[in-house]
Amino acid sequence: ECKKKTFERCAFYTDELQQKLKRAITLEKEIRLGLQNNEFELYYQPKLDLRTGKLVGAEALIRWPQADGSMRMPNEFIPAANKMGLIVPLGEWVIDRVCQQLHFWLGHEACPVIAFNVSPKQLKSPGFKSSLLEAVKRYNIPPDRLEIELTEDAFIDTSAVNMSLLEDIRQEGIRISIDDFGTGYSSMRYLKAMPINSIKIDRGFVSGGHGEHLSDPTITQAIIFLSKGLSLEVIAEGIETQEQWDELVDYGCTIGQGFFLHRPMPAQDLSRLFF
Ligand code: C2E
Ligand code: MG
Ligand code: MG
Ligand code: MG
Repeated sequence: ECKKKTFERCAFYTDELQQKLKRAITLEKEIRLGLQNNEFELYYQPKLDLRTGKLVGAEALIRWPQADGSMRMPNEFIPAANKMGLIVPLGEWVIDRVCQQLHFWLGHEACPVIAFNVSPKQLKSPGFKSSLLEAVKRYNIPPDRLEIELTEDAFIDTSAVNMSLLEDIRQEGIRISIDDFGTGYSSMRYLKAMPINSIKIDRGFVSGGHGEHLSDPTITQAIIFLSKGLSLEVIAEGIETQEQWDELVDYGCTIGQGFFLHRPMPAQDLSRLFF
């Protein structure tokens, strides 16, 4: 009886694993095809000066419109792309598209800084730096209009290779920011040693709770204080209410992003905000 149960459970898990594997393989094929057919799109979420409400930048976020009119979100395919090694070609597409878009926006004096997300695997891939610099050259982009957002796991590796890679990128004038700060494992010592320009307070500390107020004012204040001490720019993510906005201004946070300010939008809609 006991043996039979174990067997059944085993069979059940094998079946589930097989399903998962099948889905992963299908998704991999779909992503490859999606790249070939140029199906991906970038949306842009504004970053505002919290005191004046002025647009200072925007973050590019990948979107995958589907034939049926629905939208596939990054959390549904970025993790798979990461596992399957597709994050490199996908990430290169993002870099190219961001630079192409920036080239178009450069004509305007109020052209915002455009940030894009880079996964640790993409950062560590051999061609990353050269393809980034090539795109910057190809589209004639002033490097200080570009910012890469890296999560803390990209900073855990403090090997000489990784450090000098980040330093090279900074030397070129491209900005670097730490995304989702406060959720990972980076220590304060690294924070001081890393060649970064800004810190993004994770949305969980801003609107993670249910109320209208900052969900974790203590940590939010501490990160703002820390950033100021290290002369880093500080950005609050995930502002969903007027109260959160007001409290952030009170605490001295200068830049913010969130659904209460603006949702991510197609490029043409962002153009209208500053052209
Ligand atoms: P992230 O870089 O931390 O981006 C912020 C996410 O929070 C975005 O979700 C944005 O739409 C969402 N968000 C912004 N304001 C609010 C708010 O007020 N409330 C709530 N609940 N959410 C808000 P999205 O676009 O679904 O992206 C999710 C994650 O996927 C990103 O987190 C980033 O880690 C990753 N991602 C997106 N685009 C790319 C990409 O081009 N390359 C890579 N490697 N990762 C990407
Ligand atoms: Mg980001
Ligand atoms: Mg974030
Ligand atoms: Mg995030």
